[in-house]
Amino acid sequence: MGRYTGPVCRICRRAGEKLYLKGEKCLTPKCPFERRRYAPGQHGMRRRKLSEYGIRLREKQKLRFTYGLMEEQFRRFFEEAEGMPGVTGENLLQLLERRLDNVVYRLGFADSRRQARQLVNHGHFAVNGRRSNIPSALVSPGDVISVVESSRNLEYFQQRREFLKTHTPPNWLSLDPENLTGRVLYLPSRAEIDTKVNEALIVEYYSR
Ligand code: SF4
Repeated sequence: MGRYTGPVCRICRRAGEKLYLKGEKCLTPKCPFERRRYAPGQHGMRRRKLSEYGIRLREKQKLRFTYGLMEEQFRRFFEEAEGMPGVTGENLLQLLERRLDNVVYRLGFADSRRQARQLVNHGHFAVNGRRSNIPSALVSPGDVISVVESSRNLEYFQQRREFLKTHTPPNWLSLDPENLTGRVLYLPSRAEIDTKVNEALIVEYYSR
């Protein structure tokens, strides 16, 4: 599955807000959005009034890039959310949160979803004891996510263990820093997902 490989910070500038795609850098004054709070490109400084369509498109792009998905993959998530009982926008967010790369990030094993995705791709994680290198795999309540035995002594995870001792994951996940292990306790409700997006606009975007 492909992924966006272009300049990441332009995405925040285009969205008009910080999407925290680069981990630690996002929290420092080096964040380009702090210095250039306008859209990228030659006409970026011009104030443009977005059309109704543009507003919905921007919201969709914001969510898609936050979780690092290509359009086709994002759309498939949307279609799955549509077919589920309940509110489509909330289903979509819950599905995105269930991705293995997101859970690795939420548990604190990585500073960003991008980094989490790379760690998963490189086979550093197991779900219920079985190595999984598929970032889009969906976790379920009761699943145990752990760093595989052969990676535990890597310097990265040794150092990460110390960080994890100070990290509090969201309520729907539990973390055992000493054993580099996390568990999915239940699936999060919308109120427990801190992603700042108006998902109703995304539903409208795809329903047009
Ligand atoms: Fe966005 Fe982070 Fe880049 Fe700042 S540093 S523009 S928050 S990705």
